[in-house]
Amino acid sequence: MTVREILHVGNPLLRERSRELTLDELARPATQQLIDDLIDTMHAANGAGIAAPQVGELVRIATIEVGDNPRYPYKPRIPLTVVVNPVIEPLDGELVEINEGCLSVPDMRGNVMRHVNVRVRWWDRDGAEHDEVRRGLTAGTFQHECDHLDGLLFLDRVHDTRSLTTWEQFERFHRAAFIERITEFVQRVGS
Ligand code: ZN
Repeated sequence: MTVREILHVGNPLLRERSRELTLDELARPATQQLIDDLIDTMHAANGAGIAAPQVGELVRIATIEVGDNPRYPYKPRIPLTVVVNPVIEPLDGELVEINEGCLSVPDMRGNVMRHVNVRVRWWDRDGAEHDEVRRGLTAGTFQHECDHLDGLLFLDRVHDTRSLTTWEQFERFHRAAFIERITEFVQRVGS
């Protein structure tokens, strides 16, 4: 088990565009080790996802998993998913405002608009192709991780900077209203 150091906002590597992998590169032991490290690092930090550039590797790989997550107790579960070279395509114009945080932006949350219905194509860690639809908060999680591969952070998408809070102040002043709204949303659209 290898937990890697997570880069924080301000590190220029988080602002780079990561490159696609070939199937040969994906099969290499070093790449498979990186995927294991991402999973270990995501678990250790209680993240809902992590992307390779967050540990300083500029390749298009991210891991996503939501179980009983203390950072995001309202998120629908997502089984462990490794996405390589993901491509996201919105299916329509429906948007939802989601309060997000990020392992690379310590102690900060803010509201961003995300597509509710997206088609995502990716390779898994074995190079098998996936072409699936993701909805709701799960779609938002995929969009957040794919943004990292293009050098974007959720901060860039915060349309009203007055929504920025520390985690403590979110709990204190904003959590209840957000949970109420997002629970209704999750029940309506599913995940
Ligand atoms: Zn993030």
